[in-house]
Order: sequence, then C-alpha cells, then structure tokens
Amino acid sequence: MQKIVTLLLMIVISVTSFARQQPALSLIRDAEIEETVEMLTLPLLQAAKIDPKAFRIYLINDKSVNAFAAGGQNIFLHTGLIQKTTHPNQLMGVIAHEIGHIAGGHLTRMDDALSKSYRAGLLGLLIGAAASVAARDVSGLIAGGVGGMSMMQRNLFRFTRTQESSADQAALMFLKTAKQSPQGLMEIFKILKDQSVMSSGFQDPYLRTHPFIEERVSTVVDAVEHTEFKQSDTPQKWIDTHKRMIAKLDGFLMSPGTTLRKYKSDDSTACLARAVAYHKRHELPKAKKEVDELLKRSPADPYYHELKGQILFEHGKLKEALPCYQQAHKLRPENALIRVGMAQIMLGIEDKSLQQEAIGHLQFATHKEPDSDQGWYFLSIGFGREGKIGEAAYALAEYNVVNNKLDEALHQVRRSQKLLAPTSPYRRKLEDIKREIDYIKRQK
Ligand SMILES: [Zn+2]
Repeated sequence: MQKIVTLLLMIVISVTSFARQQPALSLIRDAEIEETVEMLTLPLLQAAKIDPKAFRIYLINDKSVNAFAAGGQNIFLHTGLIQKTTHPNQLMGVIAHEIGHIAGGHLTRMDDALSKSYRAGLLGLLIGAAASVAARDVSGLIAGGVGGMSMMQRNLFRFTRTQESSADQAALMFLKTAKQSPQGLMEIFKILKDQSVMSSGFQDPYLRTHPFIEERVSTVVDAVEHTEFKQSDTPQKWIDTHKRMIAKLDGFLMSPGTTLRKYKSDDSTACLARAVAYHKRHELPKAKKEVDELLKRSPADPYYHELKGQILFEHGKLKEALPCYQQAHKLRPENALIRVGMAQIMLGIEDKSLQQEAIGHLQFATHKEPDSDQGWYFLSIGFGREGKIGEAAYALAEYNVVNNKLDEALHQVRRSQKLLAPTSPYRRKLEDIKREIDYIKRQK
C-alpha cells in the first residue's frame, strides 16, 4: 500500500467515511485500467439505457473479491475481484449485476441526498451514505474477504433477496442485449461459492445467513444453457486488454517476486508486469528495458509511453519523463490523469516557460474531473508560482473539499476572498464551494 501511495499514476486517495470505526478505503486511479473497464461497461450501460456520462466506476484497492453499487450511479470494484477474473466476460457479468441494482432503483433512497452534491465531499459522503443508508451489495458478490471494509459491509449494507434476484435477472437481460454470454456471471458465482466453502473460517456471516446463492447460481446456470451467445465470441481486443489490465494490477499490487514468478513469458502482458515489478524494486535499467521493448512493439500505445514516463519520473528523471508524458498526452488528449501527471512534471522541472502550460492542463483536468485532488493540489502550486495567491487559495479550497477537510476548505475560501481581485471569475466559484460545504455538513 505505502508503495502505491508514492506512485504517480496509480494515484491512491484515502477516503475516510463518516461513521466512526470504519476503516479508510483507498481508491486507485489508473488511466489505462479505467479505459479498459469503461470499454467493457459501455455495452451494458447501453443495454440498461443509462447515460455513461452520469455513471462512474471506482476501483478500490482491496484484495477481497467484491463489488457494489452505491450513491446513485456509481459502481465500486475491488481490485481483488478484477484480479480474480480470467476472462472479460466474468467482469462484465459482475458489472451487469451491479448495473441491475442501479437500473432497478435499489439505490434511490440515496439518490436525492447525493445527486445534489455532485462531488459529495466526496467519496467519503458516497461511501458514508452507502454505509448508513444500507445499500451495499454483499450477498451477490462477496467472498471470504476479511480486510478492508468488509465488516462494515456485512453489518450495514444489504439488499433484499428480492432485490438480489431482480438484479440477477436484469444482469441476464443486459448481457443478452449486449450479445454477451451469461457464463462469466456463472463462473464468478462459482468462484465465490468455492471460496466460501473452502475458507469456512473466514466465511462471511452474510453469506451464511443468506444461503440462497445456490438458488441464484441455478438461475444463471439455466440462462447459460439457453443462451445463444458464447463466451468464445468475445472480441479478441477485449480479451487482450483485459489480460493487460490484470498484468498491470498484478505488477502494482503483488510483490515484485511474485510478479516475476508469474510473468515469465515473452508476450507483451508479461513484459508489462515485469516492467512494473522491476520498477518497484528500483531496478531502473531492467524496468526501462522491458518498457522499451513494449514501445518497440507498439510505438503508438499511449499507456506504454505513460508508464515509461512514470518510471522515469519516480526515479527522479523529470526531464526524461516529460517527453514520454507529452507523447501519451498526444495520443490521449482528453485524458485528465495523463495531463495531471504531465503538469506535475512540468512544475517539478521548475522551468518558468512551462508553468503556463502546466496550469492549462490542470485547469482542463479539474474541470473534467472536479474530484481530482491531485489536480487541485498541483493547480494551487502552479498558481502560487505565478504569484496568483488568491487563485492558489481557491484551488486549495477545492482540494480540501475533495478530501473532506471542510474547515480547512472554509479557511482557504476566506483567504481567497481577501486576496482575489474584485472582478475575478473565481469569486463565483468560492460561493459554489461554500454552498457545497454547507450541504455536506448538513448531510453529516
Ligand atoms: Zn447484488
């Protein structure tokens, strides 16, 4: 965990939820992994007639096999679940089930509260509300997870048996509309069942008291027998990117030794996992050799350029890292995370001629993703370097809202109000922040 916190691209945000005694969750951000998950989710959202723009998937850094829907149109996937999948169709089955809860209106009680607060103070409110209002998805997709927030989940979130079965039915329908086999969902259920049998010492009480997993498996088995779609019809591109996503997650989340033992072959996914493993071991020449090999094979791949940039940056080679990010940005101009990474390096180089550009990228990124705490943080630094202290205080106010530090946010709002020019357009934003803070405080 600690190691990941220092990584630039896999930005980990610690979120402490409202209720006391709940352990903090850490979310993982990674441009490539997010793109892959979004690609697999899109056909299911279309099938469910949900606007992808109003929907978001968050990745939680947690080894347990779990997923849940919360706070309106949000799905949370544990990295442990993603790593456990061996085929994109399995992940799609899980996501389809969670979309089933959203489409079925099982989360509406939270909607009112959360939709108004677009950033929700942010994830803390989302997850805090999910915990207290009770809408977690344990029964469907839980395994013997003993870490993370599973205790909270067991005690506080549950859907009814009827809701679970309706989410399963909806999932089967979405998969069918998306021309996907239900086999992956069946396989995931089986993985969960086996785990609960094998590790009875850690078995989730919720699973014990709601033994209808058997019944749910049989519904899905039935669907598999009658479907016209085969798992083997999955597009090769999905299979390849899914495999690559697992390799990257393994590289970042497993110990380097384990990664190097698992990934020995010459194929690109193995190179990718090894590049990350060597990087984590601070073996720069070896990491660079692997990533250069990847770039030789796929020179137009934005995420290989980004990874090379990350490796160089984290070894303190900022000037070498910058062109890598610039290349990645050229290939994925809309991506906010890549822009934040690039701007961070531009500011780190301390070359005045790059400051304006860095600020521009950070403004783009925070506009697109207002919950990007890294984006706001570096924007405040950029403004500070330009001597725009009122603007820097404004960016720090946003940063603190995202991190749920509301008193500090208010302090920065007041500072900014004193420092900003009377005509500054940021004044209106300060009013927005105050309203948002008021709203979040009332929710608590
Ligand atoms: Zn469920």
